[in-house]
Amino acid sequence: MGRFDGRVMLVTGGAKGLGKAIAKRLATDGAQVAIIDLVAADEAVSEIQSAGGMAEAFLGDVTSETAMETALQQIDARFGKLDVLVNNAGILSPRKAWNVWTQDEIRKFVDINFFGYWITAKYAYPLLKKVEHPRIVNIASRTFFMGNPGQLPYVAAKGAVQGLTWCLARELGDEGITVNAVMPGMVETPGTAQYNQEEAYNRVMNNQAIKQRVLPEDLADLVAFVASDDAKMITGQTFICDGGGYLH
Ligand code: NAD
Repeated sequence: MGRFDGRVMLVTGGAKGLGKAIAKRLATDGAQVAIIDLVAADEAVSEIQSAGGMAEAFLGDVTSETAMETALQQIDARFGKLDVLVNNAGILSPRKAWNVWTQDEIRKFVDINFFGYWITAKYAYPLLKKVEHPRIVNIASRTFFMGNPGQLPYVAAKGAVQGLTWCLARELGDEGITVNAVMPGMVETPGTAQYNQEEAYNRVMNNQAIKQRVLPEDLADLVAFVASDDAKMITGQTFICDGGGYLH
């Protein structure tokens, strides 16, 4: 028996990177995992299925209300409910001075990294209301606390995710829906590898209390805890999984 047997859990952006590790971890504990991604999540689904888990992929762009409404209708038709939403689909950031970014570029970060979470939550909400222990877990970023120079659009959009987390925690508490944010340190994924070399990961690691690279699986373990019944009285909180890099 897994602790998530019978639970349906949606991970957005689960085709690769952190989302894939989260999907695999939840499936290991028995969850039926749905993945929504812009790109095909065949590899994630087949890795989960070969390990004896259950997963299905749905194509969709989290910035589109129509696409998310359709994807959540498909998930409702297939599973009849949703226990946990993990908002994870997002884009990573290069570094440019704050006044060099264009308005269109900034809007893109807000669209995907903030509106994507709000839109998915909006269409997942009717399904979450059907279950006993509903959860929303938002993958945020500690860059919000650090104000990383050169990453203004990313940091601002992740700040909006923090605001979303607090507001939803308050507004949905009476319905028993917990809403929390989790923040990874800098983790090597296809997303971060576009903009960073080995030395950047090592520099971050050397500033941590625990001088080991944070892996996608480390964040996935934290998500599994927040999604579990053990976390039933935890809501509106922010957890950082970064080996003690940012202390607060
Ligand atoms: P990644 O680029 O490796 O994977 C992101 C996934 O999201 C991809 O499968 C991509 O196709 C999907 N995606 C992107 N835009 C989408 C859209 N509009 N609709 C549907 N799917 C979409 O990135 P990652 O490093 O795994 O990051 C995942 C999340 O974690 C992001 O929200 C990111 O901001 C956050 N995060 C990552 C790190 C890190 O160090 N990796 C640190 C802090 C926060």
